[in-house]
Amino acid sequence: MDQQTIMKTDEQHYMKVFARYPIVLSHGEGPYVYDNSGKKYIDFLGGIAVNILGHAHPKLVAAIAKQAGRLIHCSNLYYTEQQATLAQKLAEQSGMDRVFFGNSGAEANEGAIKLARKYAKTISPDKVEIITAYDSFHGRTLAALTATGQPKYHEGYEPLPGGFRYVHYNNLDELKALMLAAKTCAVMLEPIQGEGGVNMPEPGYLETVRELCDQTGALLIFDEIQTGMGRTGSLFAYQAFGVKPDIATVAKGLGGGVPIGAFMTTEKVAAAFAAGDHGSTFGGNPLACAAANAVLDCIEEEQLLANTVAMGEYLLGELVKLKEKYPALITEVRGKGLILGAKLTCPGRDIVNKCLAQGAIINCTAGDVLRFVPPLNINRGHIDEVMTTLDKVLAAE
Ligand SMILES: *Cc1c(COP(=O)(O)O)cnc(C)c1O
Repeated sequence: MDQQTIMKTDEQHYMKVFARYPIVLSHGEGPYVYDNSGKKYIDFLGGIAVNILGHAHPKLVAAIAKQAGRLIHCSNLYYTEQQATLAQKLAEQSGMDRVFFGNSGAEANEGAIKLARKYAKTISPDKVEIITAYDSFHGRTLAALTATGQPKYHEGYEPLPGGFRYVHYNNLDELKALMLAAKTCAVMLEPIQGEGGVNMPEPGYLETVRELCDQTGALLIFDEIQTGMGRTGSLFAYQAFGVKPDIATVAKGLGGGVPIGAFMTTEKVAAAFAAGDHGSTFGGNPLACAAANAVLDCIEEEQLLANTVAMGEYLLGELVKLKEKYPALITEVRGKGLILGAKLTCPGRDIVNKCLAQGAIINCTAGDVLRFVPPLNINRGHIDEVMTTLDKVLAAE
């Protein structure tokens, strides 16, 4: 099918929930993707922080192919080596004790919320409130979207599940006030807000949230779906911030593109779940776990955490240069590792479209923040390519 036919066919039959860009992608290699007409793009969106090894990484491809030829799926009523190995690796590398696998970020957060509610019931039947932040993003299923502190995602879906409360990110007074009544089951935050505009925690914020949770017997849940898997330069952002949550959720980069999500917790909290309390048909099947095992191995073997720190610093520096060159267009540059944002004075979609036309895929979030979440194995040359294109586009504004 040619590009026009594909787009037309999709538009006729696919649910109209995505405002898609008018290109049809066909294949990729490293940080590059190609459309159906053979045009090459450098991909600094990486499937929204998913393709952390880039496209068609040989080790990931081989791991998937090998596992597909052996056992793609079996029920969670049985053990598999792939799942046991992945659970062990994640527990060891996160400092947590137990892991549960689902298929997406939203599902990981649903599981985390369910676990927090069950655990809190063992302390008091009144501890049911889940506090989240405005401008957060936690997914699209009913509880995850209720946890998402952005009214635009709630509209039309009422009645929403009860027990969710919201505070402004970085505002400790609001949080303290809500936690006073000791009805808080859990506080759920992104260590850096991704979709909300790459919003950083103020120094000391996460530490104080941890203290408040400890004082009131509430659990701290970190949604590391976007910030996890090395994105900020440590495997999980909380490790760099030095604040350990009771439950952490991870998805996006975990399978390098194969759908898999997880929540991880301590033995104490995990004890609230007994056999039959939670489950999943597909979650953690051997194919997805083989992919995630390969991703974790690559992060270690290819020293991707160090590369993320180095390339993050370089990209941040280049963005600062652009901000200095175009002060009327860029007002702030922020982020950590390879989750970086540039706040614009104009809507970002225009800039994104112009970059796309020139062969660079970037993204805009929260309306006016250009977001960069490239693969973790990029080099300076790749960054220069994107920055040259962005420079040209900004110069023409
Ligand atoms: C993407 C994202 C989610 C939702 O993940 P899905 O796989 O789309 O369900 C949840 N939380 C954060 C922080 C995310 O970035």
